[in-house]
This record gives sequence, C-alpha cells and structure tokens, in this order.
Amino acid sequence: MDVGQADAILIKQGASAMLVDAGNNADAEFVVQYIKDQGVTQLDYVIGTHPHEDHIGGLDAVIREFQIGKIIMPKAVATTKTYEDVLVAIQQKGLKITAPVAGTEYGFGAAAFTVLAPNSASYEGLNNHSVVIRMIYGKTSFLLTGDAEAISEKEILDKGFTLKSDVLKISHHGSVTSTTAEFLDAVDPRYAVISVGEGNSYGHPSPSVIKRLQDRGIQVYRTDENGTVIAVSDGAAITFAVQSTPTPDVPVPSAPAQPAVPPKNGGVVIQSVDLVNEVVTLKNTSSEDVDLSGWVLLSVKGNQSFVFPQGTIIKAGATLTMASGDAAGDIRWTNKNIWNNDGDPAQLIDARGNVVSEY
Ligand SMILES: [Zn+2]
Repeated sequence: MDVGQADAILIKQGASAMLVDAGNNADAEFVVQYIKDQGVTQLDYVIGTHPHEDHIGGLDAVIREFQIGKIIMPKAVATTKTYEDVLVAIQQKGLKITAPVAGTEYGFGAAAFTVLAPNSASYEGLNNHSVVIRMIYGKTSFLLTGDAEAISEKEILDKGFTLKSDVLKISHHGSVTSTTAEFLDAVDPRYAVISVGEGNSYGHPSPSVIKRLQDRGIQVYRTDENGTVIAVSDGAAITFAVQSTPTPDVPVPSAPAQPAVPPKNGGVVIQSVDLVNEVVTLKNTSSEDVDLSGWVLLSVKGNQSFVFPQGTIIKAGATLTMASGDAAGDIRWTNKNIWNNDGDPAQLIDARGNVVSEY
C-alpha cells in the first residue's frame, strides 16, 4: 500500500489474508479501508515488524477492526504512545503476541512463509529487531525485510537460510544502512519494491541502493512514484500492477464511496487485443452494468498497467475500447505504444486483484 514514508503490506492467498505492518498512525483509516475493499474480514497473521511508528502506527486500528489469528512482533519494546496503543488493542481483544523465532515456518493457504530474522536477542537500534520473512507460493517467492539493517542481513546470511527470491521488499525504505551488496546477491531478485514517501526528509531511497539495484538489472517499483504496488503470483510467474494514489488537492471520491459489496467481475472479458493498431476491446457479456473503478489492464510483456478511474462503467452487453499510441478509442491510455507487436499477453485485473480475463 502507498502509505508514504512507512510500510504496509497486505498478502492474500485464496481465502487467507495477512498484514505486514500498518503504516503511520495517520494511515490507520486508509489501511483499514484498503483491507476492507479487498473483501478481507479476517487476517490470519498480523506482523508488526518492529515497534517504530511508521510500521505499527495503524496496527491498533487494524487489530480492532478485523478478526485476527496470530500476531507476530519482536520482543523489542518501545516506550511510545503508539506502541502502548498497539499493546492495549491486543490485550482488549484477548490476543497474545507470538515472538518470531528464526527458522519457524508457517502455512498460509497454499503458500508458506519462514521467519528469517531477528537472530539476536538485543541490538542497538530497533530496526534490526525487524521480523524478516520469506514467503513462497508455488515456484515464486517474496522476501519482506521490514527495516532490517546490515547487521541483521549479515546474521541472516551467516545462518545459511535460503534467500533467493523473485521479489525483494527493500529494507528500511531504501536506506543506505541496508541492502548490502552481499545480501542483494544472495537474494538475487528480479523485482524490488521500495515503500517510501515522496520528498521525505531522510533522503530515502539512497542513490547508492538504487544504483546497486540498477547495476543488477532489477526492476524497481516505488510507492512514491508508482503509488500502491500490486504483485500477483499464479505460482509460476509474477505480474505487477500499480494503483496511483490521488494527490490530496484533487477532489477524488475516497475509498468509502466504493460499494460495500465486492465489485462484480460479471462477465467482463478482453474481447480482442490489436497489437499493431494499439486497441484493446473489452466486452461486458453480462446483462448488468459493471463498475470498473480501480480495475487494471495489464500489458504483461512490458509490465505496463492502466488503472481505470473511479466511476468507469461498462454497460450491460456493451464494448469499451482502450487506445494507446496513435489509436482512437473510448478511453485513451497513453500516447505511447504499449503493445509489443511480436506478441504481448493482456490481463484484466479486478479491484480485488483477481485476474478476471486474459488474452
Ligand atoms: Zn521504517
């Protein structure tokens, strides 16, 4: 989720859902609404990677709002009101904190994750207490690092855990204190995601970390530039979509305006993709209008995505054309050419992140 200079990561697998961090205190409402909008009512796991506000700020609101399975938080304590609020919410719900033990594996639907850190009982700063997990689903893998720094990265390497992952959530918002070359080489990701606030006062992400990623040809997604970053794994391959965050000065209906019932994917399909003329035709094969707000059309090869704006409706039985390049259509995507003429699969992804049609 794009929570600015903070982390909040929702993971879904089948009927299971989990949350890793919940943004700053001020992000609580957004995070809760985002999770609700995905049709989630229960979080099987909630991980507060470490007790800094930019990771656990919204956690008390999340704990109060949803049915919670297991809460995993490091033994490190903070003396802040934010941390106290989280403890109170946990207590009021009659929940217990599970301390992370490196090497422990948890099942998560058809996926599973392993705790890789922390590996020591005490550190100088809170960041190195971060709970680090590696999630695997089929042949795909994701490494989530919280704000773990070089010390913890070294400990993880020394422990000999399997680190190779397709997607790396870059540690500590891209700070130079993390993502050492040794760690990065061991993870050897194809994609990196940096959760970072635009114009933040820390200078995150560090240019040297960005260079390290670029030198290795790793594709980078950043919440400050891309908004919310959505990675979808089918167990064999991972596709990405982004959902730009409305800037505060533009009046855009906020998330609560969305219908409480999950949007219907009722028969909307990609009818054709004209690669040469840059026109995609969607068809609503059902007898009801379908709201496409927040849906995504993805060019799989180029990994380019178009997010349908709020209020986009495809009428019952109607078609809708999406134009790029020089083409004309009902919706203009961009002046750039999107589709690779040598073949380029297209995916239509609904607002809940489900691929509803492929072409
Ligand atoms: Zn942080």
